[in-house]
Amino acid sequence: MSQLDMTASMLATPTDQVGAAEAFEVLAATPATCTVYPGLCTVADDEDGDQVDANGLHFDHGSDAIGVPGLEVEGDPEIWAQFTHVSAGNPPHIGFMGFDLTPEQAHDKATELRRFADDLDHLADQVHVARALHNLRTVQETTDGPFAKILTIMEDAIVRDGADPVEVGDRILELMAQARAEKAEVQA
Ligand SMILES: [Zn+2]
Repeated sequence: MSQLDMTASMLATPTDQVGAAEAFEVLAATPATCTVYPGLCTVADDEDGDQVDANGLHFDHGSDAIGVPGLEVEGDPEIWAQFTHVSAGNPPHIGFMGFDLTPEQAHDKATELRRFADDLDHLADQVHVARALHNLRTVQETTDGPFAKILTIMEDAIVRDGADPVEVGDRILELMAQARAEKAEVQA
C-alpha cells in the first residue's frame, strides 16, 4: 500500500475526526518536505547546495519569497519578504529586504506598506489630473478664437474648482453637440 493510499483510507473514516487530523499530518510530513516547519519552510532535503545533518535533513529553513514584481528585471522584486530560520542565526523571523524582522516589526511594516499603497493611489489620481491639464495646455498653445476660450474655461474648472477632467471634457462635448444641434435647427 502506498503512502497516498494509506492517507486516502485514513481520510475515508468520516466518524473519526482525530484520524483525519493525523492524516493531514502524514500528508504534511511526506519525504523531501520540511518536518520542522511543515507548510512554511519550502527547503527540500534533496536539493543541491542545501546543507544537511547526519540524517540527511536540512537545518537552514526558509520559505519562498513573497514580493512586488520589479519593473526593470523580471524575478528581481521591488519589495520582498520570506520566512527564515538558519541554524546559526536569529530565531524564526521575516527576512525583509536584507533586514531581519520580528513578526511584530513585520506587522508594522505591513501597515506602512498599506498606507503607502493608499498614498500611491492618491498620487496616481493627482497625476491623472496633471496629465489632462498638460494635454489641454499643449492644445491651447496651438489654437485661438472660441476653441481657445473653451479650453481656458476647462482649465479653470479643473485647476480652480477641482473638477474632474473627464467630466469637464464630457460636459464640453455635450455643450458643443447641443450648440451644433441648435444651429442646425435655426438653419432649417
Ligand atoms: Zn525546513
